[in-house]
Amino acid sequence: MKSNFPLLSLGLLLSFHSLASAQDEDRPLFKTSYRVVNVHRHCDTASEPAIKAELEVMDRVGVSVVVILDGGTSDGKVPAWMEIKKKHPERIVVLSNIPFSRIKQATFFDDIVRDLPVQKRLGIQGVKIFKDLGMYIKEPSGELLKGDDPRLDPFWAKCGELDLPVLIHMADPKEYWYPLTYNTFHYGMKAEKDQHYDREKMPSWEELIRQRNNILKKHPKTKFIGAHMGSLTFDLQQLGETFDKYPNFHVDCSARLRILGRLNPMAVRDFFVKYQDRILFGTDSTALNNIDPKNDKDVEAWKNRAARFYSRHLEYFETNKLDIVEPYAWGKDWLRLAGVKLPPDVLEKFYHANAERLIPGLAVKK
Ligand SMILES: [Zn+2]
Repeated sequence: MKSNFPLLSLGLLLSFHSLASAQDEDRPLFKTSYRVVNVHRHCDTASEPAIKAELEVMDRVGVSVVVILDGGTSDGKVPAWMEIKKKHPERIVVLSNIPFSRIKQATFFDDIVRDLPVQKRLGIQGVKIFKDLGMYIKEPSGELLKGDDPRLDPFWAKCGELDLPVLIHMADPKEYWYPLTYNTFHYGMKAEKDQHYDREKMPSWEELIRQRNNILKKHPKTKFIGAHMGSLTFDLQQLGETFDKYPNFHVDCSARLRILGRLNPMAVRDFFVKYQDRILFGTDSTALNNIDPKNDKDVEAWKNRAARFYSRHLEYFETNKLDIVEPYAWGKDWLRLAGVKLPPDVLEKFYHANAERLIPGLAVKK
């Protein structure tokens, strides 16, 4: 077999050449020809202008559906979200949240279960759990509420009963618990301190993963999607073992390309092929983040940035280019990702079929 080493070197040369230009603003946007569902996107308030901007961005890169993770509760934002969803029923999915700010109320644990069927009737298609659970939510006594606290069991069970998948973010990449050293991935970046936990004040990474896995174990009939590769990007072996052990577990890939991009692209591809029924496409980040919707210039600039953000994801998964800027432009001056070029049948599952299987009402009606 002819060695492709010279070709690879040429590719590296080209990619180093592009380092000189540092940014990829001149690069044409990558538009996908697949149906794509983004299962991880934020929008803090039920904002029509934000959704309008988001849908325009999605059109530029060919993305079909966006799952918004900030639906709130039925006596909160859900009705406003459903008004927006009515206008774009095929393109928006909204997940609700547990109102942990009400934990001091005596009926809290019953109330959150009682609200689920109401939410479902209104049009909610799943639940999102933020990483506060296990790390920051405190009981009235001042103790941290554990993710696998038995008082939450009726809630997880009810989600299964009502066929509402739970997109759960627990823990974070293991590296956030490592001491800050020369090996710190976010070394010297503005976010270095944000991506780091004080191990004295925070439960250990292992403890949070144990809590999450205990929920999976106790509720085999409930479908869970672990946000951000289930906080296991630093150990895909362990993620594979978690998939093998818990058939109800899936993950989204959002906000983890900066970590996946440090691995051998062939290893990432093999992993995505092996677990092709378990990984879903997601990007994270917020629609029209802090932008005044009345400021046309700022809105247009946001749309350009957001389209580029989507484009980098699609290019990473669909091509084997060596010079892809990390979607968030982490290390934009020096870091380039090698695309993993997933096979078409795997892309079909990763981009939409897995989401359609897990999220009720998402499949295209034939
Ligand atoms: Zn998120």
